[in-house]
Amino acid sequence: MTTFADLGLSPELLKAVEEAGYTEPTPIQAEAIPAVLMMKDVLGIAQTGTGKTASFVLPMIDVLANGRRRALMPRSLILEPTRELAAQVAENFEKYGANHDLKMALLIGGVQMGEQVKALNDGVDVLIATPGRLMDLFERGKIMLNACELVVIDEADRMLDMGFIPDIEFICDKLPDKRQTLLFSATMPAPIEKLAKKFLDNPKRMEVSRAASTNENITAFKIPVKNREKRSTLEWLLRNDLVDTAIVFSNRKTTVRELNKTLQRNGFASGEIHGDIDQAQRNAELQRFKDGEINILVASDVAARGLDIKGVSHVFNYDTPWHPDDYVHRIGRTGRAGAKGRAFTFVGEGDEEAIDNVEKLTGAKIAVFGKKDVRVELPKAEDKPATPAKRGQPDREEQDQHGEDEVAEDREEKPRRSRKADTSDAKPERKPRSDKRDSKPSDSRPRHSRRQDEAPVPAGEWNGPKPEFLSVGFK
Ligand code: ADP
Ligand code: MG
Repeated sequence: MTTFADLGLSPELLKAVEEAGYTEPTPIQAEAIPAVLMMKDVLGIAQTGTGKTASFVLPMIDVLANGRRRALMPRSLILEPTRELAAQVAENFEKYGANHDLKMALLIGGVQMGEQVKALNDGVDVLIATPGRLMDLFERGKIMLNACELVVIDEADRMLDMGFIPDIEFICDKLPDKRQTLLFSATMPAPIEKLAKKFLDNPKRMEVSRAASTNENITAFKIPVKNREKRSTLEWLLRNDLVDTAIVFSNRKTTVRELNKTLQRNGFASGEIHGDIDQAQRNAELQRFKDGEINILVASDVAARGLDIKGVSHVFNYDTPWHPDDYVHRIGRTGRAGAKGRAFTFVGEGDEEAIDNVEKLTGAKIAVFGKKDVRVELPKAEDKPATPAKRGQPDREEQDQHGEDEVAEDREEKPRRSRKADTSDAKPERKPRSDKRDSKPSDSRPRHSRRQDEAPVPAGEWNGPKPEFLSVGFK
């Protein structure tokens, strides 16, 4: 296994990387960092979320460590398609460059130009810019590019989408011939190939294959849920969705810790892995999971990346991942080797954009989990007709929806609850009938969540808070 120390980075940088909590390089980092340090041109193709930023920021810091700043003449240039991405790269520089004396300037639209010009006058080692603002300053004579010996064209395919290719060509023409050029992109459409051919000199090409795309053995659902109801919803599912083994992912390590504690307190055999736990302990926890000593592992993405956790029956995204590629990584832990898996993504308050991004990346809408998808027999609501509420029985859907409204009304006992906030996210939209139903209750073998101290709660005897999507069946 490659470590950051194997890549030739300086000790100061290794320290900064360790402080950032990264334990091992991502594949694109493992390939790009040594090439950049050897002053080669690089063409790096890797999906969003694969760590491309650090693959150029880290070696750049070492490459630039020696050298002198001069007014108006930045020593290196990083082009980013958007202000947000430029700002993120700047943050990375600040984080990893903490032990180095490097000056950075951020040239982005929407920021007063005066400050930026002043920074340029003082001399910068690293200029991070969006093409528009850079062109603007260049044309006003506020910047010279002929000392830029290291250039990064990042997120090239997005530059293309945003119509920046002519600007980039213009900028590259102003750069010195003797320079090192790095180009990163998630995909390589023809115009980007052309750009690379024109401006890169015998580049080292590296292509990291697409993260396992979503697989048809995985039945995926999303559940719109209020943040404060996430925990009870998770516990309900752990008890009632025939969970054999599960990984519960969260975006924050504090959540991982708290959630694991709560689960343990409530009788689940759970463990945790996250960035604050050292590698040896993580491995030990993983072993307990593999040995079946615990059947629920609460994890952060950083900790789970690169770990060999396979073949679990369930993945729960306690938070919608911020990086859509993490979604694919996470749910790819289930549905392995022909086995069926179930993946649940909680969409809490503020997760709308994140789930949109996931659906964009995977190219499909994720089905909203509804009563029809519940695996256990739900108890009948008292005020319902005698027909049992069999899941997936289509002629009941309208009634159910109607019922939901009524119950939501009834439950509205807390006086000061804002109606608006409640309705906006409470009511999952129904998916069209055509979406894949979870196939027959093929799991006739009794698989229940193993709990430390007691037998699984029989279906319907759950007496904790009821998940929103079940509000009819329970009263
Ligand atoms: P990309 O530019 O490929 O879309 P980013 O550079 O923005 O991806 O990184 C995506 C996420 O992965 C970030 O949250 C970053 O902090 C994290 N990350 C990067 N490198 C590593 C690593 N070696 N180990 C763990 N996480 C990493
Ligand atoms: Mg990026």
